[in-house]
Amino acid sequence: MTAAQFKAMPDQGPAYLIGDTWSTESDLPAMAVINPATGERLYDVPCCGPDHVSRALEHAQQGFTVWSATPGWQRAQVLRRIAEEIIRRRADFGRAIATEMGRVQAMAVGEAESAAGHFIWMAGEAERLYGQAIPSRFGGDLTITPEPVGIVAAFSPWNFPLSLPARKLAPALAAGCAVILRPSEQTPMVGSLLGECCLAAGLPAGVVQILQGDPIGVSPALLASDEVRKISFTGSTRVGRLLMEQSAQTVKRVSMELGGHAPLIVCADADIPAAARLTARGKFMNSGQVCGSPSRFLLHESIAAEFTEVFLEEALALRLGDPMDPATTMGPLASPAQLDKLETLVADAVRRGAVLRLGGGRAKDQARGFFFEPTVLEDVPEDARIMREEPFGPVAPLATFTDLGDAIRRANDTEYGLAAYAFTRSAATARRLSAELQSGMVGINNFMLAHAEAPFSGVKHSGIGIEGGQMAIREYLNFKTTHTVLEVPAA
Ligand code: NAD
Repeated sequence: MTAAQFKAMPDQGPAYLIGDTWSTESDLPAMAVINPATGERLYDVPCCGPDHVSRALEHAQQGFTVWSATPGWQRAQVLRRIAEEIIRRRADFGRAIATEMGRVQAMAVGEAESAAGHFIWMAGEAERLYGQAIPSRFGGDLTITPEPVGIVAAFSPWNFPLSLPARKLAPALAAGCAVILRPSEQTPMVGSLLGECCLAAGLPAGVVQILQGDPIGVSPALLASDEVRKISFTGSTRVGRLLMEQSAQTVKRVSMELGGHAPLIVCADADIPAAARLTARGKFMNSGQVCGSPSRFLLHESIAAEFTEVFLEEALALRLGDPMDPATTMGPLASPAQLDKLETLVADAVRRGAVLRLGGGRAKDQARGFFFEPTVLEDVPEDARIMREEPFGPVAPLATFTDLGDAIRRANDTEYGLAAYAFTRSAATARRLSAELQSGMVGINNFMLAHAEAPFSGVKHSGIGIEGGQMAIREYLNFKTTHTVLEVPAA
């Protein structure tokens, strides 16, 4: 199938893209893509394997030769057109995201805006990409030239199936790299739509290719290849570690955006009703399937009761249902495995003394699909598994503190370090929290940490490298030092 023959449309089957050719052909068994709101099969995704990888690598090499020689000014124009294409097709993206992973459609459409923002921001970085001339102590010309790292393999998850690949594609393309993207097997149509936007924007063949299906079909071959000079992964810390180990064999550059378990500290001086209402919005967004979702709540004991009551009211007001229905405010979980995991974590917390204030299990009023009730646990002890393991679902574990230093210690007592949040009216407390919380990002009185114009990154086991902001393009660049003296110095 040529680009003209395939048309990515939500509700139809996805395809993979090698060079500028779409196809569904594969000797490997296809995988079913399930609508999590109904549990029914939407369509199949074709699975790529090592043969597809070697063909994609040939095209990537050709694409890289062309794209890396294209001036940044022209690359920027293509990036801006990709952003325009994404916006033009935002309704298609919204429908595909809602049906493939269950996000409420109105919010899913909004993901197109944030994805487009990454391409717009990085277009500016492509235009301003130039080197340095350094005065050398030894004479001659000492220069630094940025060069694209080469072919990039990018792996993205299902929870933000458009903006997370965009965070990888935009800086890689701005830098002049070619990218082989493997979207999640749960959200392959979003991947096909994104590939189509890249081609429609005039990106040369082989610069962005989309391999679909079971990750095990493509990831070992991509990781073993010496031609792939960089991998960029977003997903769990467990898989990230595995990919880092495999990358070591060919000494690839790596960017890792991994798991999180964000603490939320609510101080006594905060605007409690407003904080509780905003926290409910932040917690239950995307049914809690957000890497930076607040997932350990530390409430000052003097305001804990007030915060909890308002938070419960907000959680009770959520309306679960079909993500395509405008009245729905919370969709299903993306997969049934998540339901089992959450039930286990809730049962463990209750066994250790937590009080179940709301929810706790599969939604009884939903006859089909993977719906979990908005859940609130109070007095959760520190040894409960949910205080260490990322729930990745709509469960809020609440605990109290009396001393801010102790709250900070407990907030930091985790292997993760992605996001942390606090509510306070005191500028001094805000500064202290920002300085002492061990996380890549801190939100004070808000949950807005994902900006195209600022780094999104984790510390500790939450990741390596930066996505977003001015520095992100460096993840896809080598900096070549050249020292030229015109006369060979005397030995
Ligand atoms: P996961 O690690 O199981 O899967 C993530 C993606 O990697 C999926 O598309 C999966 O198919 C793919 N994958 C799995 N095994 C692979 C392999 N061997 N090679 C290549 N790809 C492979 O994670 P998940 O449970 O699907 O996603 C949720 C996790 O992602 C959470 O831990 C969440 O915190 C994390 N996440 C992090 C960020 C961030 O920016 N830090 C953003 C979103 C999600």
